[in-house]
Amino acid sequence: MTHLAYFENTYKFNDQAIIMASDKDESGPYLMLNQTIFYPQGGGQPSDQGMIKVEHHHIPIYRVKNMGDEVRHYTDQVYEHLIGQEGACLVDRDTRLLHAKLHSAGHLISNVMESLYPDYYAVKGHHFPGECYVEFNSKNGFLDEISIDLVNEEIERVIRKNLRVNMEQVSADKVNALCPNITYNIPNGQSIRMIRIGDFPFSPCGGTHVKSLQELQGLKITKCKIKKMS
Ligand SMILES: [Zn+2]
Repeated sequence: MTHLAYFENTYKFNDQAIIMASDKDESGPYLMLNQTIFYPQGGGQPSDQGMIKVEHHHIPIYRVKNMGDEVRHYTDQVYEHLIGQEGACLVDRDTRLLHAKLHSAGHLISNVMESLYPDYYAVKGHHFPGECYVEFNSKNGFLDEISIDLVNEEIERVIRKNLRVNMEQVSADKVNALCPNITYNIPNGQSIRMIRIGDFPFSPCGGTHVKSLQELQGLKITKCKIKKMS
């Protein structure tokens, strides 16, 4: 099981880790580490990229994926002879920060929309550069007209307050109590990572996030559409 060190600090771009395995699967050759600061793709957020330096090797990390309890760091070849060695992990700073901003922005848009339009609740977020969106469902069948200007004004007002983005681990029964709109079951005994912007509601999330809203200055919604359900 890989320890997920990226949970602890979005701004930690380098760290030491031990190579536990190197093999390949249908996605290519990969490394596994005892702990990782590389974010594996998931929750609507793309994976980190970067490099691991071991001895004279500069091992490129192209993408990172979760496979059950393991995190696989995909690279250019199998490095079996480096198993057991400690390396220096370097996460690409610019992509990490961009992904964190886009993901936090998705949560902020959900929070603002749900506070302005209580009939709507967020069901899905996609935070890839150039194609970000948040999808909402309606409790009563999309009765409210959405004003993009109003939502953008409120986003700007909240960002000016520079609220903190807090993260904590919470037990499964507490998650169900905090998030009544959640559409999936969280098994008992598991603890879930939650994020919360200022006093907005908690939301379960395993992504990387900015420390506070000042990093989201300039955020604007550009388009809103209603999808007909078949
Ligand atoms: Zn999230």
